Amino acid sequence: MALAQLGGSIARALRQMSNATVIDEKVLSECLNEISRALLQADVQFKMVRDMQTNIKRIVNLQDLAAGHNKRRIIQQARPLHRKAIFNELCKMLDPGKPSFTPKKGKTSVIMFVGLQGSGKTTTCTKYAYYHQKKGWKPALICADTFRAGAFDQLKQNATKAKIPFYGSYMESDPVKIAVEGVERFKKENCDLIIVDTSGRHKQEAALFEEMRQVSEATKPDLVIFVMDGSIGQAAFDQAQAFKQSVAVGAVIVTKMDGHAKGGGALSAVAATKSPVIFIGTGEHMDEFEVFDVKPFVSRLLG
Ligand code: GDP
Repeated sequence: MALAQLGGSIARALRQMSNATVIDEKVLSECLNEISRALLQADVQFKMVRDMQTNIKRIVNLQDLAAGHNKRRIIQQARPLHRKAIFNELCKMLDPGKPSFTPKKGKTSVIMFVGLQGSGKTTTCTKYAYYHQKKGWKPALICADTFRAGAFDQLKQNATKAKIPFYGSYMESDPVKIAVEGVERFKKENCDLIIVDTSGRHKQEAALFEEMRQVSEATKPDLVIFVMDGSIGQAAFDQAQAFKQSVAVGAVIVTKMDGHAKGGGALSAVAATKSPVIFIGTGEHMDEFEVFDVKPFVSRLLG
């Protein structure tokens, strides 16, 4: 199931519940099963889904829902309660329980970006740099993607437009060497946010993860950010987990949230990396970038 459908399934389940004349254990269970199916198909971990079911059942206190004398009153009370419980559970799923590393202005931080090709990684590196530059930081961009022809030109073009210093090479084929040279140079220049863009490839493959491991080992990033396309399907969990197994992913950025995607894959990415979503990409332009806010995100997910 496409993740775009996740929100639709949840909304449908809630609607079915709202339409029911009596909300009893059976109706609630059906609704929760439907939502759980949608979450599982979106690769959210089984345990998280099971916990959500248990929590919601506890919260709505089924005794109160037993078809009683005053059905209308019970339905009216129960509906917002159900929705709120589901809303809260989804919010909780997006909270890994600890904040990500936060760079400090004036103090050098190395931030490494990882993600598959096409996820929006290079665009997001510039957006992240530009966002901080506007707040008075001194960011710098390094293109350690020697795999994709044109990667350096793309980064160079973006960086030039935003007036952000950049480093890369047309000749050098070793991404580790470029990354290390870039980090050294920008440390000397007292940049406080040194951003390393890496290669992506089309699919998850061993060589890519080995390269990520080497770049990370050589540059010792303070934070590794996993960039994912908000519209990817079931692949979200595996993809995020695969990166997490080779490098210490500490934050997630979900791109292309300006499209139809509900971004349900973010739940999977948070589960797989145990890291929070920190920003979302909302367009192709440099300033189409927002700090992640869990409540509006979940509202959108619920449709
Ligand atoms: P990379 O291969 O992961 O480095 O991906 P790119 O940065 O080259 O982005 C791939 C495509 O996605 C480009 O056409 C970008 O303009 C586009 N893109 C990136 N982020 C967003 C976003 O938030 N919204 C939209 N609509 N497009 C985006």
